[in-house]
Amino acid sequence: MVLAAALLMSNLLQDVSEDRLRATLTQFSTYPTRNTNTEYLGQAAEWIAGEFRKIPGMQVELMKYPVKKGRRIVADKEVVQVVATLPGATPKRVMMGGHFDTINLGGDPMVVKAPGINDDGSGVAATLECARLMAQSKWQNTLVFVAFSGEEQGLFGSTALAARAVTEKWQIEGLLNNDTVGASQAGRLKDKKRVRLFSEDSEKHNGRELARWIEWACRGKVKGFAPWLVYRKDRFQRGGDHTPFNNAGFNAVRFVEAVEALDHQHTENDTINGIDFGYLANVCRVNLVALQGLANAGAAPTAVAYDPKQAHSTIVRWKGTPGTRYIVYWRASSSTLWEGSSEVGEANEATIKNINKDDHIFAVGSVGGVPISAN
Ligand SMILES: [Zn+2]
Repeated sequence: MVLAAALLMSNLLQDVSEDRLRATLTQFSTYPTRNTNTEYLGQAAEWIAGEFRKIPGMQVELMKYPVKKGRRIVADKEVVQVVATLPGATPKRVMMGGHFDTINLGGDPMVVKAPGINDDGSGVAATLECARLMAQSKWQNTLVFVAFSGEEQGLFGSTALAARAVTEKWQIEGLLNNDTVGASQAGRLKDKKRVRLFSEDSEKHNGRELARWIEWACRGKVKGFAPWLVYRKDRFQRGGDHTPFNNAGFNAVRFVEAVEALDHQHTENDTINGIDFGYLANVCRVNLVALQGLANAGAAPTAVAYDPKQAHSTIVRWKGTPGTRYIVYWRASSSTLWEGSSEVGEANEATIKNINKDDHIFAVGSVGGVPISAN
């Protein structure tokens, strides 16, 4: 079972296709703009939906939502985005997405070119590629792949979907937002080995714990490449489609390249020439490691608590669900990453020898699931 899972994952990672990523971005290059105000947005949505429909088992929806005339919206209108769902055995959802709309801040949005190949064609290409690969296997949980729109006008598409998730009582294990993940270089600055992973620390959701778990899950999995955790909800004074989900109480994080090509962003120069396809493929692999774990995550433990007795070894107890296996994680209180972990099976209690709760932080998660901190 464990061997089969390991083999499956290595196959998934090997099968990431730079050619398919390039084909998606070549198609995106044919639209002069994908600005939410223009007719090209709907055309691109239809094309993306068509690609999702080619994937066996995928349920594809063109989701419509209204936007009002405002700072970056020229008139009241109905806007479309793409939501593709791969049903699993449980209704618990695992989400991945990027935004397919673009903007050029240099002029009239109806006229200026806005190729947006990196921001955020790259995230949508990665989402499509991961959807194709994940759909080759059956998963416990339901996978939802989203191409958001209205991002550049104020996160309108993600705000609409997060509101719907609240209304429809979606249970979301995690949302992986991929926004601007295709370049490894800005001028002379280069970083081909890392993708930044932003997360918010909040009482309302476990986004930070999702990010910390992704870092742990990816160790040694993608050769020469890893997520680099940034303990901020996003870059300075900037935002993304994970934030409306965080604000609605869901676990959501953002991937963004390590060195952003800032002078191409939101201009006509954000073209396919700026994409490093080997880098983008590695970003897909990091997402696939995370998706594969989350897609089979069992119910999260509840009531995770320390045994209060003073001791050098730490006893952690929790309420589990029969048939679900658990992992205990720990780190020194001054460390930001997990330093140790132990898979303990279908247990409700574990003793971690000679690791003291006085100076360490513990958490428990179902295998593949977001860990819950002990207290
Ligand atoms: Zn973006």
